Amino acid sequence: MPDLAGQIRAAARELLAAGEVAAVLGFAPGPLPMTTRPFAARTPAEADRLTWNGFCVMNPANLLPEILAAVEPPRGPKDPPPEGPLPKVAVVATGCWSRNIVVQIQEGRVRRERLVILGIPSRGMIDRRKVLRRVGGREIRRVEEGAHELRVEGPGLHETIPRWEVVRDNCRTCVHPTPVVYDRLLAEPVERTGVDRYAQVAEIEAMTPEDRWAWFRREIAPCLRCYACRNVCPLCYCPTCFVDDSRPQWVGKSLDPADTALFHLLRAYHCAGRCTDCGACESACPMGIRLRLLTKKLEKDVLELFGTEAGLDPGAPLPLAAFRPDDPDEFLTAGPGGGAGPEGPPPREEEPA
Ligand code: SF4
Ligand code: SF4
Ligand code: SF4
Repeated sequence: MPDLAGQIRAAARELLAAGEVAAVLGFAPGPLPMTTRPFAARTPAEADRLTWNGFCVMNPANLLPEILAAVEPPRGPKDPPPEGPLPKVAVVATGCWSRNIVVQIQEGRVRRERLVILGIPSRGMIDRRKVLRRVGGREIRRVEEGAHELRVEGPGLHETIPRWEVVRDNCRTCVHPTPVVYDRLLAEPVERTGVDRYAQVAEIEAMTPEDRWAWFRREIAPCLRCYACRNVCPLCYCPTCFVDDSRPQWVGKSLDPADTALFHLLRAYHCAGRCTDCGACESACPMGIRLRLLTKKLEKDVLELFGTEAGLDPGAPLPLAAFRPDDPDEFLTAGPGGGAGPEGPPPREEEPA
């Protein structure tokens, strides 16, 4: 297994010492076992704090715009922009994170020339809830990650867990583990084929509409509306999110199930054609809600309808932000319940006098 943490630190030290970048965005160890936190090294000495392991589950693309702004020379609101190129930032990127960076480039959030992308072909990140379930919720004080197993230790606990069994659901069904854009690739590319990407979605699609609605209500019932899922998502950067708007108030502030359902449905639609299934939202959720299943369904629909996936090509327009004459429009001409059909809408019944 390559020493990725060592390679990230070495690349960060080199880039910072040469002045090629003003910061390297990666991860530092978290306060508890099985946790990490985003960390931006600004000096070669700080690069030694960077780490890498299967618990790096936050998507660093989410922080890129702010870090890029933070390394620009300070200037007042009326000062002209500085002359010459702006400082660069290096960022670690797995397959899905690199695709989120591509989406940010497509959406004008970041500029490619200001980035140095340290690509990491991903073996899949670990779901700490799955680890906790495996050890029956017992206290874990130390986790050592090997190539194919996790050694977990705590009071009276010494267990070896096959790594793949506790990998996150999104990583188990990922078909783009190798970054699609990078400046340096820190390990050999990984290919994954023969994956049934949409098995979980197909199970839900097979339900009757009533059962599907009941499933959805059950799944989101524990939601606290803490918005951690929204806050960690690199797609959710609206200056005012629809859930925070008060004029008009699209969504109530209470835990009313209708408001919670509206939040989840609207957020999922806002991510359609943009979501890379990075799983950061699900990893951040304190209630273990599988909210990725909504965005995964929309990923499947966009692939079937538009033949494209988010973030694979920086030069391509976003599928739902561009118009093509051959775009699917059956929902206009033959929607559920019969729709209008090619002959146009049925004649209106005369209103009774
Ligand atoms: S949920 Fe929608 S409105 Fe809110 S931040 Fe995300 S994309 Fe924007
Ligand atoms: S919606 Fe979730 S899975 Fe999709 S890009 Fe955002 S954080 Fe990642
Ligand atoms: S992180 Fe979980 S609990 Fe919080 S708003 Fe999102 S789904 Fe609800």
